[in-house]
Amino acid sequence: SVASSYRGRFAPSPTGPLHAGSLVAALASWLDARAHGGTWIVRIEDVDTPRCVPGADRLILQQLATCGLVSDEPAVWQSERGALYLQALNQLVATDRAYPCGCSRKDIEAALHAAGLNRERHHAAVYPGTCRPENGGLQGKPARAWRFAVPSEPAVMTWTDRRLGPQAQNVAREVGDFILRRADGLWAYQLAVVVDDAAQGITHVVRGEDLADNTPRQIALQRALGLPRPAHLHTPLVLGANGEKLSKQNGAQALDLSEPVLALHRAAATLGLLAAPGSVPEALAAWVAQWKDAQPLSLCARP
Ligand code: GLU
Repeated sequence: SVASSYRGRFAPSPTGPLHAGSLVAALASWLDARAHGGTWIVRIEDVDTPRCVPGADRLILQQLATCGLVSDEPAVWQSERGALYLQALNQLVATDRAYPCGCSRKDIEAALHAAGLNRERHHAAVYPGTCRPENGGLQGKPARAWRFAVPSEPAVMTWTDRRLGPQAQNVAREVGDFILRRADGLWAYQLAVVVDDAAQGITHVVRGEDLADNTPRQIALQRALGLPRPAHLHTPLVLGANGEKLSKQNGAQALDLSEPVLALHRAAATLGLLAAPGSVPEALAAWVAQWKDAQPLSLCARP
């Protein structure tokens, strides 16, 4: 048989157990991989160690297995892959696409103030470029973080999401020179995710819609590193009782997996899939067939 070149992944941060929202992303990425006859990999994104909860990684893998979602290759942990991220940062530095930044939060606010920019007119998170080499670099300050020099071309990064359709973002203006390595030495999500998606040969990224606005930054990094751009599908979010996106931060309940098929049905319904009778494997097989029949775009069109 001809092996599919499709490689997908589910990349949870082990900041707590899976919740109903993360199960939707896990299920969608698994279904999309199965529907394409592809490979599905779990990657534990534990670079932000202060936010990680000991044991949450094992718990997540166990919860996934209970739902019939098992990585086709051994799961990988980002905390063990620092050498790859360093190599990528070195490449960006060598090609003048990354630079050291010595600014503290206070320095950044002062610089924005001096430039006549305030929080109303300028997003507080947009770094004003103080330490950019063309602006004089560190000027004697010790290096703290490393930043990506967001290119001015293309001014607007465009991409097409399989569900959300055409998307555009001016990364320089809306995000600015974002962090690749933090002042505390930890690797930033943006760099780690781009390096790992490429190193693992990921062809299709399927994840929650809350991450959609990270995509242009990741495409910019892929371009700068000469890496391929995967296809993107951002899945609908599960909203809590307050109408806000369900997340570990706003206290999403841990998933009740006493009856995994029920939890899977809720996740499947969020994806616009029809109820499927039977056991976990039977329901999953039925949803793979539904996923193949209908394009995800129509399966889960935006309300
Ligand atoms: N680790 C990220 C999160 O849990 C997801 C990364 C991704 O899918 O690109 O929010």
